[in-house]
Amino acid sequence: MNDRSRPTGCRRGRRWALVLALVLASGVPPVVGAPEAGKEPPVSDDKLVKTEAEWMKILTPEQYAVLRKKGTESAFRGQFWDHHEPGVYRCSGCGAELFDSRSKFDSGTGWPSFWAPAGPRSVEPVQDHSHGMVRTEVVCRRCGGHLGHLFTDGPRPTGLRYCINSVSLRFEKRPARK
Ligand SMILES: [Zn+2]
Repeated sequence: MNDRSRPTGCRRGRRWALVLALVLASGVPPVVGAPEAGKEPPVSDDKLVKTEAEWMKILTPEQYAVLRKKGTESAFRGQFWDHHEPGVYRCSGCGAELFDSRSKFDSGTGWPSFWAPAGPRSVEPVQDHSHGMVRTEVVCRRCGGHLGHLFTDGPRPTGLRYCINSVSLRFEKRPARK
């Protein structure tokens, strides 16, 4: 059986296998977060998966109610709705960097609000059909924890409003520049 009789897809597959073999043989591990152009990076890179019992152990009851059970804290009651220090806001469940104070704005809603996440892969939008509404839920991409909701009435430059529960966040002050 000669090579010409095979479908082209098969030959292409063999060529990719050869490239992969060369990459592996070179001893250089593929760089995570720097995928080839036009290819989605692996989704499972650093996902944090825990059982409900494990989450209950490491979260406060308030954090558990919001992050794992999709609760909502009362407006104007959380720690960060009126917080203005420069720094980063991390997920209170897993520590992933979610938002930067530079994209925080006063929305008047009583919840910390941002017009953009810290990075393109910090948070993940999910369709939410609860309470008879169609909304976009925002979850932490790393641990899947519920953060809040995404609306399209935010300020420039994005026009987006990430309405986030303070209890889902942990603030880290940015060190002053020397
Ligand atoms: Zn998280």
